[in-house]
Amino acid sequence: TTDVRRDALTVLVAAPRGFCAGVDRAIEIVERAIEKYGAPVYVRHEIVHNRYVVDALKEKGAVFVEELDEVPDGVPVVFSAHGVPKAVPAKAEERGLDYLDATCPLVSKVHRQAERQVEKGRHILFIGHAGHPEVIGTFGQVPKGDMTLVETVEDVARLDFPAERELAFLTQTTLSVDDTADIIAALQEKFPGIIAPKAEDICYATSNRQAAVKQIAESCDLMLVIGAPNSSNSLRLVEVADRLGTDARLIQRASEIEESWLAGVGTVGVTAGASAPEILVREVIARLGEFRTLDERQVRTIDERMVFKLPRQLVD
Ligand code: SF4
Repeated sequence: TTDVRRDALTVLVAAPRGFCAGVDRAIEIVERAIEKYGAPVYVRHEIVHNRYVVDALKEKGAVFVEELDEVPDGVPVVFSAHGVPKAVPAKAEERGLDYLDATCPLVSKVHRQAERQVEKGRHILFIGHAGHPEVIGTFGQVPKGDMTLVETVEDVARLDFPAERELAFLTQTTLSVDDTADIIAALQEKFPGIIAPKAEDICYATSNRQAAVKQIAESCDLMLVIGAPNSSNSLRLVEVADRLGTDARLIQRASEIEESWLAGVGTVGVTAGASAPEILVREVIARLGEFRTLDERQVRTIDERMVFKLPRQLVD
């Protein structure tokens, strides 16, 4: 006789998950730009860090490049959601290119804070991950030498500034809420006068997705996080589950899932980074259903109602 219970798999689907308002807006900017200007529309850097999204936009006529130099004269170019150094729009203007800025408004907010702190004569300690395009973009808002990257608590110990130097800190939007709190605590202990941002720079989508994973992780034997290896907020979701002692895997597509992963697993959690579309979540759940009988439940920790306006050029 078949043991039905052995075949059952509970799937806890975290909510919120997947697309955030900044990603929605960035994709819509590329789509509308193609409608308005006709293909090809160039996009500097992956508009959001997701292969599926990038491929779908390629089909519609987007051309992805890494640098502005690769954009021919006379065609429009979109800057990705992660933001760009000031030199990039300046160069586009110099060349007379039509450009659209898909930088998430929450990243732009950090950019403006960075400028303001430097105007006030402060040196900025920026908490973030080296090499991430958002970090490159934010560093590119201020003169070289006015901002120092801090990645870990150990980095804080190595910092050395004269007592009279006024300091401020800012952060990348897609960090681990817990790690960042530790780093901030270390900064404030070492530099009691350091100026904090008015509001947390980690964005609502990043913290909500981490909180949703925390809510379900301990009930899960395995957590599947749908996202790209270069997606900062997706990697953080894997860490959150991991730290709660739940085996967690980052996957890009359902086809990567192997039946052996489910050996001894009674409950699997599913979530997706802010750049991963819902269709990939459905695909993952369908794949799990190929191996087991599913009992799917959504666990929602908060409702998100954030929507960002499109750039003026696209709303006429
Ligand atoms: Fe904006 Fe946050 Fe989404 Fe990044 S993850 S695009 S900062 S809302």
